[in-house]
Amino acid sequence: MSSEFSLIQQYFSRPTPDVVLGVGDDCALLQSSPNMHLAVSTDSLVAGVHFFHDADPALLGWKSLAVNLSDLAAMGATPRWCTLAISLPEVDESWLAAYADGLYHCADAHQIRLVGGDTTRGPLNLSLTVMGEVPINQALRRDGAQVGDAIWVSGDLGDAAFALAAIQGQLQLSEVDMASLAQRLHAPVPRVSLGLALRQIAHSAIDISDGLLADLGHILSHSRVSAVLHYAALPTSEIVADLAAHPAYDRCVLAGGDDYELCFTAPVAHSDAISAMAEQLDVRLTCIGEIVADGGMQLMDADGQPMQMVQMGYDHFVS
Ligand code: ADP
Ligand code: MG
Repeated sequence: MSSEFSLIQQYFSRPTPDVVLGVGDDCALLQSSPNMHLAVSTDSLVAGVHFFHDADPALLGWKSLAVNLSDLAAMGATPRWCTLAISLPEVDESWLAAYADGLYHCADAHQIRLVGGDTTRGPLNLSLTVMGEVPINQALRRDGAQVGDAIWVSGDLGDAAFALAAIQGQLQLSEVDMASLAQRLHAPVPRVSLGLALRQIAHSAIDISDGLLADLGHILSHSRVSAVLHYAALPTSEIVADLAAHPAYDRCVLAGGDDYELCFTAPVAHSDAISAMAEQLDVRLTCIGEIVADGGMQLMDADGQPMQMVQMGYDHFVS
């Protein structure tokens, strides 16, 4: 059986260019850049809570880093370094090799270096800390939304939640549609370049990990503002649009977790720049509403009539 040290050596010690000192000593040594704030965030994935025990380890490797990168994206931070605290019930070398491949695949795609961590025995738990850099005073915070801002969302809403609903047997999808939605659930692509492009454009941003209403709700409460949302504007993939009559539709699109899209607010004067950014980055960006002074979160139907969020189970968002 391998020692903890040889496991680290074998699976988590790939080269880290540009790092003063990476894995192997008591601490990593990192050189931060002048005039930058360090953005730091930790997210854990717990077996049985965030993923199934038999989940594909390579996808878990990708996702455990991707969800953390999504937080850096939401701050407008450039990914730099990460650490991994992993707790394993047993040493399964093929599992570890696949997990490490998935993790490094995501790390290489986003230029973030694994510089340290901790390896212990225990219930399967993957905890990553990411560090990124953002120019002083340019971070995209939750408390920056202003009355009059347009509210935008990237990508499509509800794909991951519908994938999970299908896995749980709540609906039947064709094989092709299932593969497409499952990809969004298991291998989310963090919106890192969008976050960087939104520096000095967006007033506030958050990543959608708990559902649009909950996460936009955080922007509203931190910024002490309200919002009007237009139901008909909510962006969905063709697959989810075809499910509009399904009883889970509103829950998946408005409150579904795991999409890892960005929700941000920006002055209306930047709308053209944001549309140009969508073209340039090849990412769908949709204006879904506006920030207003009062009223909590109001959802309007296609005729401009308020919709009853209480009936949808979102009574805690009604002021
Ligand atoms: P210590 O007992 O001094 O904390 P460890 O044996 O926990 O040292 O770790 C040895 C080195 O390996 C450290 O540099 C640590 O950051 C790194 N390390 C441990 N586990 C991991 C891991 N899962 N991924 C990356 N680096 C790790
Ligand atoms: Mg240690």
